[in-house]
Amino acid sequence: MATELEMLPEMSLNVLWKGMNKLKRILKNLIKNQFLNVKNILIFLAFLIILYSSIPLPNPLFPPDYSPTVLDEEGKILRVFLNNNQQWCLPPRQDLVVPEKLKKAVLCFEDRHFYRHPGVNLFSLLRALYQNISSGKVFSGASTITMQVARLMYPKERTYFNKILEISQSLKIELHYSKEEIFQMYLNHAPYGENIIGYQAASLRYFQKMPEQLTWAEAAALAVLPNTPGLISPLTNRQQLRAKRDRLLKKLLDKSIIDQEAYQLALLEEVPDTSKSFQMFAPHLAQFLKARAREKSPIIRTTIKKEIQQRVEDLVKQHLSYLDRLGIHNGAALAVETQTGKVRAYVGSQDFFDKTSQGQVDGVRAARSSGSLLKPFLYASSIDEGIILPQILIKDVPTFFGAFSPNNANEKFNGMVPAKEALVRSLNVPAVRLLYTYGIYHFYHLLKAAGLTTLFRTADDYGLPLIIGGAEVNLWDMTVLYRGLANGGKFRPLQIVEDSERLEESSTLTSLISPGACYLTLNMLRELKRPGAEYYWEQYQNQWPLAWKTGTSYGQRDAWAIGVSPQWVIAVWVGNFDGEGNANLAGASCAGPLLFDIFNSLPKDPQQSWFEKPVMELAPLEICQDTGFLAGDHCEKKIIVEAPLSMKPIKICHYHQSIYVNKNQTHQVCSLCWKPDQYKRISRLIYPPDVVQHLRERGQVISSVPPHSPDCPAQAESLALQILYPQNNTRLWIPRGFDGNWQKVTMRVAHRERSRVLYWYLDDRFIGRSKDRHVKAAELTRGWHVLEVVDEIGNRDHKRFYAAMKNNLP
Ligand SMILES: [Zn+2]
Ligand SMILES: [Zn+2]
Repeated sequence: MATELEMLPEMSLNVLWKGMNKLKRILKNLIKNQFLNVKNILIFLAFLIILYSSIPLPNPLFPPDYSPTVLDEEGKILRVFLNNNQQWCLPPRQDLVVPEKLKKAVLCFEDRHFYRHPGVNLFSLLRALYQNISSGKVFSGASTITMQVARLMYPKERTYFNKILEISQSLKIELHYSKEEIFQMYLNHAPYGENIIGYQAASLRYFQKMPEQLTWAEAAALAVLPNTPGLISPLTNRQQLRAKRDRLLKKLLDKSIIDQEAYQLALLEEVPDTSKSFQMFAPHLAQFLKARAREKSPIIRTTIKKEIQQRVEDLVKQHLSYLDRLGIHNGAALAVETQTGKVRAYVGSQDFFDKTSQGQVDGVRAARSSGSLLKPFLYASSIDEGIILPQILIKDVPTFFGAFSPNNANEKFNGMVPAKEALVRSLNVPAVRLLYTYGIYHFYHLLKAAGLTTLFRTADDYGLPLIIGGAEVNLWDMTVLYRGLANGGKFRPLQIVEDSERLEESSTLTSLISPGACYLTLNMLRELKRPGAEYYWEQYQNQWPLAWKTGTSYGQRDAWAIGVSPQWVIAVWVGNFDGEGNANLAGASCAGPLLFDIFNSLPKDPQQSWFEKPVMELAPLEICQDTGFLAGDHCEKKIIVEAPLSMKPIKICHYHQSIYVNKNQTHQVCSLCWKPDQYKRISRLIYPPDVVQHLRERGQVISSVPPHSPDCPAQAESLALQILYPQNNTRLWIPRGFDGNWQKVTMRVAHRERSRVLYWYLDDRFIGRSKDRHVKAAELTRGWHVLEVVDEIGNRDHKRFYAAMKNNLP
């Protein structure tokens, strides 16, 4: 033991001589009594050989009960958990070398001849034997580091037999392991007081440092601790610990391992009196990974970058301390590298230890209503399907799908809006109409294939509200989806554990959305105005553009903001974990500023400020400037835009139609009524009647189509369209059917041109359209009704009638 070793310099030759003499006398006596003959020596040797070969040496020497430890990409510790014995015992790490200061202090204190002896120091053993015999004590001391490893394997009582066992084990250990391995085993399993095992945990908990940052004083304190680990806590023991440390420092000075100045400085340092908690980064992620990976290896190396993690954690905390005053208590964020998919920051809540606001909930994994977050994928895929281009007009008028009638957030309609504007302003009605055209099943399966894991219900069950927040999503999946958009429609899992195998290589993965459509969509999302003109990022925007989208769930329970650049995918959620709504909650104003603060804080490459245009994937296309559809013969202005090469053909503009008019353009004419050289063909933009009606209601002047010439020998213009049934001011008797329900009434219209599409409105509510055969069945309630029918070029008729319910009673 070290205490004996310490006394070595003081031991005089005299004492040694006395001991040798005593030993000689014992041997002499043994020989005189004929005890030490050849036979007995052989028996003794045989006994030793049997003993040695029967010594058990477990493999591994120590049961692998280590603290699960979560590391960042570079090996920095993010979080440590207790092991099964409720101890802090960090797993041995291949990538860590024992720092020089600690190594020198430990060797100087415990075992100066460690590198020279075969596991046992014979000289100090004999000396200790003599001292113990002469003082009548149980065998102690003279343990080498190897012998201590043997004892740490199985802590045993200090008896002569156990000492012999330890010696044998030590010799065996030396045969099986290198000196470096033995030294590390000692340091990794020595007790350091409290429930701290091993130098790594001791360094972190007593000094809040990695071992390589220890000072001489700290290294010396750690060197002496395993000897008497009890010295750490009580105040009185602290002085003993200090004295012990200082003695070792003196020895280091005497051996010229440290110089006088270092020695004096070291003496000034305090010794620790208690341990402190580990610092914690990405605690939610660590918890998640620990639950998954405990059996495999105690070391979990993640893709997190500690500095980025820390910065994002600070920003989330900062923003939430402001939002907290508005009654918004929780927030989460994720920052992922666009190209590699490696997660660099994972913030599950504003504060893991915030008990009042459920800080332990992991907001990255919590499923919440998506708000408008799914819209960009519908728009992008609709481009591939040839349904839209960014310039194509989508109807934004009151719309009914059965009982479902979507409304825009500001409860206003815009008549006709280009797809790009509809997406940037996140209008609900155009998005629902688009989903209706695109197909709910088709979209549902696209989302699942892209990596959305929270669609637990059927497509039918979600229905059209899916696109405006009808489904729940989580921050993790949304990051997968937006990253896919940034990677040309290739959707891949994110990477969070450093050594995990990559599931799919990008080269073998097909694009779910074409790179061209993704690029056009990202360009649309780039136009979204950044929150608040007062922010400095208005100027910043041009240098570091970001394609971003916000989402606010129904009832203002969730605010989302997700942004993508060629380098980063950043996703932010704020709200309340308990689901409480808040009138202040909105994606752009609550989640947006945090998103941009995170984006601004991340490292960027000036060579990669915006996505590279997929030149080979885009081709020029001539479209109608007014409507965005493929330019037709009647379109007045045409422009060339870029469209994905692989997209399905888009429709020819059907809003521009040509009509024949008289010279003054006051009347339409036809071959029956035009006069030679007194007519011309003009092109007119003719919106569908529901749009026209909506715009007219809002007081907008619509360039209308002139009426047909009254001089025309053909049917009068008023008769172009006529409601045949019901007639004006009539009473309809509505009987019950066989099923007991009121029967539907079939209404009829005649139109001069059969191919015209008619739009039907009952009491100002759109009830459907008809073509070729103009009949429509409707359920009526008791009372007055107005039926109005309009065709595409504005011809209309309306009838007012009364519905009476006829009971089938006599
Ligand atoms: Zn056109
Ligand atoms: Zn005519």
